[in-house]
Amino acid sequence: MKEIHHWIDGKEYQGTSGRFSDVFNPATGEVQARLSLATKAELDHAVERAAEAQVKWGLTNPQRRARVMMEFVRLINRDMDKMAEVLSSEHGKTFPDAKGDIQRGLEVIEFCIGAPHLLKGEFTDSAGPGIDMYSMRQPLGVVAGITPFNFPAMIPLWKMGPALAAGNAMILKPSERDPSVPLMLAKLLQEAGLPDGVLQVVNGDKETVDAILDSQIIQAVGFVGSTPIAQYIYERAAQTGKRAQCFGGAKNHMIIMPDADLDQAADALVGAGYGAAGERCMAISVAVPVGDKTADALIERLVPRIEKLKVGPYTAGNDVDYGPVVTKAAKENILRLVQSGVDQGAELVVDGRDFNLQGYENGFFVGPHLFDRVTPDMDIYKQEIFGPVLSTVRAGSYEEAIKLAMDHEYGNGTAIYTRDGDTARDFASRINIGMVGVNVPIPVPLAYHTFGGWKKSGFGDLNQHGPDAFRFYTRTKTVTARWPSGIKEGGEFNFKAMD
Ligand code: NAD
Repeated sequence: MKEIHHWIDGKEYQGTSGRFSDVFNPATGEVQARLSLATKAELDHAVERAAEAQVKWGLTNPQRRARVMMEFVRLINRDMDKMAEVLSSEHGKTFPDAKGDIQRGLEVIEFCIGAPHLLKGEFTDSAGPGIDMYSMRQPLGVVAGITPFNFPAMIPLWKMGPALAAGNAMILKPSERDPSVPLMLAKLLQEAGLPDGVLQVVNGDKETVDAILDSQIIQAVGFVGSTPIAQYIYERAAQTGKRAQCFGGAKNHMIIMPDADLDQAADALVGAGYGAAGERCMAISVAVPVGDKTADALIERLVPRIEKLKVGPYTAGNDVDYGPVVTKAAKENILRLVQSGVDQGAELVVDGRDFNLQGYENGFFVGPHLFDRVTPDMDIYKQEIFGPVLSTVRAGSYEEAIKLAMDHEYGNGTAIYTRDGDTARDFASRINIGMVGVNVPIPVPLAYHTFGGWKKSGFGDLNQHGPDAFRFYTRTKTVTARWPSGIKEGGEFNFKAMD
């Protein structure tokens, strides 16, 4: 059995804990590798070495650090297909989607090439007589990134790019479900010129995460994952005075107004609801058509599109719309929630429960599901399902629809489909959700903007990537300097009283 270990001090580091976690091929259900889970002692060792390496890296001028990012971009492009293949085999997403996962991370590294500009600080000339004031952005030291399974390239890249370009060392703790691509990225960074020890990839589970949270050396934690863990990490990180930004789960609503182009809306819902088997924090999981006429017409358009979806292994190339979910436990949880929807009275319009793929009977495939007449008290509405299940909640009016999205505890993303600019403006302005799409179903901001949810979808301050990431991974020092008048005024010939 293949074993996957850690990446410490620029080389593979054999774990000694004797504890392992299985890495599956979700398409076949087979265990393809076992992953070493780090002990607290191993984590502490990696952190101490990172702290030593950070001193020199933090003093390296920002432009040189940016050049490492520049070369990293080239190398990621060079190895894109190789990494996408590994990513698909561990995660299950289709090959083109795996490339998209890497691409959206790569774009953040491209943005990080501009680090010198972002780290420039501020300066006030003559803030008082002979006084100048300036603020510097300095690295924090050693920081940590703890990342989820669903974007095993993109989110580690979102974490490591800004943190390293700002002069920090990073401990990356990737998801134990699909750990290989983060390790490949670490190797590429070494090839790009990153000094050994500046990025340590430590694999593990709760024990490793707790060791990160309790470390007195680690200064900040950037977390992405489910809401209960995000909240736990935020609270525990605070106990040792760490800076923490913890992004959690989602329940993204798409509101479809009566004036929307319903074919466009149906296409968007199918892509955003079922792409990546619904395992996206920006997936649309709730459709809210306004008015029964809109709802009926939308369902009529959705059903044939959903029934046509092709579900299969990534090895089928471009001929698949989505692949399996990540584990057997994830599949069981999705099917349990689907059953709860039926039991609680929702109408299951497309039933994927009996889905079976010939030749892949042990894979973690889940057929597509569509619910109509879902109500806010149902578990399928309240909970994040993270699977290919779209719920329709019918709203009587625009006000009812916006209130629904606003009352939900999650606030990651949302979208509205309408032809009316006034409605769209009102929606974007009033909604209490971090990322909003207007006739755009998955409004993931580009690398030079920032990404973050509100309410239970995000704990802590500042967003991911864009300028916020550089604020998160640096701290400000402000210097007030007075230089009394010196020799430039020439010699003093008169005996002056002191004043
Ligand atoms: P998860 O919370 O199970 O795991 C995330 C990380 O936390 C992993 O590295 C894991 O090892 C660690 N972890 C798990 N249980 C832990 C525990 N008890 N104590 C300490 N650490 C623990 O999440 P996941 O299943 O890997 O990812 C899916 C979730 O992530 C979904 O809820 C999805 O919405 C969310 N997500 C959010 C965003 C966002 O930006 N808001 C982006 C992607 C995914």
